[in-house]
Amino acid sequence: MLEMMNRRRFIDRAGRLLLGAAAATVPGAAAAVSIRTGKVTQATERLESGARDMTLFLCGDVMTGRGIDQVLPHPGDPALHEGYATSALDYVALAERANGPIPRPAEFAYVWGDALAEWARIAPDLRIVNLETAVTTRDDWQRGKGIHYRMHPANVPCLTAAGIDCCVLANNHVLDWGYAGLAETLETLRRAKLQPAGAGRDRAEAAAPAVLTTAKGRVLVFSFGAESSGIPPDWAAAAGLPGVNLLPDFSPATLRQVAAQVKAVKRPADVVVASIHWGANWGYAVPAAHQGFAHGLIDLCGVDVVHGHSSHHPLGIEVYRGRPILYGCGDFLNDYEGIAGYEAYRGDLSLMYFLTIDAASGTLLRLRMIPMQTRRFRLHRASAEDTRWLREVLDREGRHLGSRVEAGPGGSLALRW
Ligand SMILES: [Zn+2]
Repeated sequence: MLEMMNRRRFIDRAGRLLLGAAAATVPGAAAAVSIRTGKVTQATERLESGARDMTLFLCGDVMTGRGIDQVLPHPGDPALHEGYATSALDYVALAERANGPIPRPAEFAYVWGDALAEWARIAPDLRIVNLETAVTTRDDWQRGKGIHYRMHPANVPCLTAAGIDCCVLANNHVLDWGYAGLAETLETLRRAKLQPAGAGRDRAEAAAPAVLTTAKGRVLVFSFGAESSGIPPDWAAAAGLPGVNLLPDFSPATLRQVAAQVKAVKRPADVVVASIHWGANWGYAVPAAHQGFAHGLIDLCGVDVVHGHSSHHPLGIEVYRGRPILYGCGDFLNDYEGIAGYEAYRGDLSLMYFLTIDAASGTLLRLRMIPMQTRRFRLHRASAEDTRWLREVLDREGRHLGSRVEAGPGGSLALRW
């Protein structure tokens, strides 16, 4: 009952909060358009690419809330409701104890560190991330949930400094601060032209893709979440009910539903990305249900790229019928420095994924990965030793999926299939 009252209150409040955004978008339809053109591209990159070759940047969890929010220019209220930490500043202290002082305030671009040079050098046509935090000052923390992530809306220039085009939101943190927090998150992202997908004021809006336009054509980004990633089932958006685009299961019936959603929006030359928050935080095993669902997305739904995330470390990669399946991209940026446990998975290491796709056919031409390491809440190019370790892990995990990972030029990793 309380739940229903909260939801009603949110709908009223959201109606007011999102009035401006509502005028610019049509709920349930593909109306949100982001245009990224005219980027400076190095001649060497362009020479090896055809006119219709499209490069997408993808990564896993971007967790700019909590500790990271505290070092940005406009930190929110640091109070936490966790069993073992009462302040987000505790996470700053842990990171500083592990790796040294962090500037405060840090510039908005500080956290991206060496990633900025890679984005400038490779000049992807689009940048798509899983934003694993609410962007809000709202304080309606979700009881019964142990961890709550939020970034102050005034820190959103941190995301625009990374040139992000699209934030997928069907994950287990976007609703940490309640429906009002979700409404403020959506409004803040839209105002900053960071197209959200996967959460909304009702089921139609949560299910609608972000429609991104590039000089090479359109990209549709559908964002889905699964309960196995820790999304509470009552976060599912429904008719007249805000929430996330939660997959009920990985069944053929769900695939048919997704196929209908894609068909309603897709034009012949569109590239379709299915971004899915699924699975546990630690461990390399790819559940058979994930593999079956990913294959179904490609076979039956017209999906060209499966962008999986939730695991805190990268998982193996498969290329199925010419389409890449990234089962788990790992965390890209988090505030876990100095936290003990699970060191064997090297959660401090992350990957920038650059997928070059033939935009005409949707098939994968090239997949390059740039290994990074987080230190002092900032991304650094990984050492040669850490790069080798990541290559070996991804190669080992890719073998039973039919892929290999080799050392590429300039300390990059290259997928072979
Ligand atoms: Zn998650």
